[in-house]
Amino acid sequence: MSANYQQELATALDAVRGATLACRSVQAKIASEKLDKKDKSPVTVADFSSQAIVCRVLSLAFSHDQIIAEEDAAELRQPANAAFLDQVHREVTAVAGTATMEDVLGWIDRGKIRPASKRFWTLDPIDGTKGFLRKEQYAVSLALIVDGDIQVAVLGCPNLPNLPEVNDPSSIGGLFYAVRGEGAFSLGEDADTSTPIYVSRTAHGQHARMCESVESGHSDHSGASAIAEELGIAQDSRRLDSQAKYAVVARGEADMYLRLPTQADYVEKIWDHAGGVLIVEEAGGKVTDLAGKPLNFSLGHELKSNRGVIVTNNLLHEAVLTACRNVLG
Ligand code: AMP
Ligand code: MG
Repeated sequence: MSANYQQELATALDAVRGATLACRSVQAKIASEKLDKKDKSPVTVADFSSQAIVCRVLSLAFSHDQIIAEEDAAELRQPANAAFLDQVHREVTAVAGTATMEDVLGWIDRGKIRPASKRFWTLDPIDGTKGFLRKEQYAVSLALIVDGDIQVAVLGCPNLPNLPEVNDPSSIGGLFYAVRGEGAFSLGEDADTSTPIYVSRTAHGQHARMCESVESGHSDHSGASAIAEELGIAQDSRRLDSQAKYAVVARGEADMYLRLPTQADYVEKIWDHAGGVLIVEEAGGKVTDLAGKPLNFSLGHELKSNRGVIVTNNLLHEAVLTACRNVLG
């Protein structure tokens, strides 16, 4: 491995590992009888805690780097939310050690800066909040972008089952990471050994496996099933929340991930993709929008010049784009 971005990678792994500890701790406290209720408070606590932990670690190592993260602390500062702040403080200090309330709020607010500079990090402290609440898939996604290119990416997917050949039942879930030009790897959360990951070699639609969002509001399910039919795909698509979908394509468990717009005016956010994109590309895959254009990470916190997201093992990319054109027009 070259020395490029190795300090950034080590810092990002440390940051995401800490954040996933807090997420697991909060998720473990969700009582199962509450799972079907509309109580969103656990995800609120975990979201803020995750962002505070990641921003703290990044700030200690790279004090001048800008962070574009999903949350800010404005709501948490309101007196009515003191109980939330208390819980967040407890979760953060359990991972990061002693800190004041103001420290925690300040770390969270490190992530509120817009727009982007030449070099910045982007963070989704919990991607897939609905999956988190259902105790299914969610991800902590962190990426470093320099001059519009993603250079370092780390995805924490605490609930993603291991591949059958990974014979370590003690470590469900884990970390995925990539540095541009260096390949993509998976790392058990407690393990020190990294395993290179590669996309599948599926070249024909009839053998292909698709994945997509659980939420039909986030990606057009009926459009995807028409595209699957056009491609001759026989298997049902696998639905999972969060950027765990990128990890599943990167390690060859699915051949494509389609994110098809459900609203004419929705603009994708960079933190929902940056981590996953580099990991898939470094595993040999390809990511574009519906028109076949690369995602443009140089326009601030939104992917303003892109519409939809198509992620494949590269071999199937042109066929998928053609099927999208044929079905969606
Ligand atoms: P997923 O887990 O794939 O369903 O995606 C979760 C992400 O979808 C969240 O982090 C949101 O930022 C994003 N999101 C929210 N509304 C929409 C929408 N209308 N279309 C696409 N993505 C959305
Ligand atoms: Mg998200």
